[in-house]
Amino acid sequence: MGHNSTLSPPALQPLWDHVLLQQRWAVQSPAFPVLLSLSGYLAFCLPFAAADLLGPRLPGFPRWKMQRWRPGPRPMARCLGRALSNHLLFVLPAVGLKGWWWDPSAPPPAAAPTLCQLLAGVLSCLLVFDLQYYIWHVVHHWNRRLYRAVHATHHRYAAPFSWATQQLGPWELLTVGFWSSTTPLLLKVHPLTSWVFMVSSVWLSVEDHIGYDLPWGLHRLVPGGLVGGSPAHDLHHRDPNTNFAPFFTHLDRAFGTAYSHQTQGSLQW
Ligand SMILES: [Zn+2]
Ligand SMILES: [Zn+2]
Repeated sequence: MGHNSTLSPPALQPLWDHVLLQQRWAVQSPAFPVLLSLSGYLAFCLPFAAADLLGPRLPGFPRWKMQRWRPGPRPMARCLGRALSNHLLFVLPAVGLKGWWWDPSAPPPAAAPTLCQLLAGVLSCLLVFDLQYYIWHVVHHWNRRLYRAVHATHHRYAAPFSWATQQLGPWELLTVGFWSSTTPLLLKVHPLTSWVFMVSSVWLSVEDHIGYDLPWGLHRLVPGGLVGGSPAHDLHHRDPNTNFAPFFTHLDRAFGTAYSHQTQGSLQW
């Protein structure tokens, strides 16, 4: 994806100039994407954790809850503890390893992407990530050994809640982190685009797990049922042989793995 300075809208160029002048470390540090994803996870989960804890005392939210079970502080602390320890024990060493061979001498582009380039880049990265995770996910449900060794950790809760987004075994987290950082490189998108993609994918993953079918959920805003959102992923946690794609619905529809009343109850594990 090219970066033509004449096409850059005024909205993004000053922001990118500011990053290059004042926050250049963010472009050069391999730790920045991890920091961005982890803080996104914490910030996006917090309001829904508050909604879960307040329960019926909060107007509106209980009406949109999809399953009756409401998590208390203990499962929340367990998921948060796992997310933090996974980052400390596995992600941090992986970032250190990346920093070892990372070549920061390549200068970042001077021009910001245009808004169109940014949006097209984010959508392309999300589509590629959706495909990568779909294939990985199907394989890890169809192979019993792989399921038990790698993916079963994520299925601890049949009724997901926001913090359970990062209820992941280390291999799953490292795999997801690897795709999140290599897909923007593969598609040669602007660093700004790659950051927006990372934050968007964290948001979409958290939204998958919130356990509420919100009237302003992305699956309701995007027409044609193209986005699965929380109802689709909630069903995956209840009936794990359906709805394997994390964000969109086209792959599950195309390969016949979308949830339907016929597939209901086909639980294997
Ligand atoms: Zn899940
Ligand atoms: Zn699964």
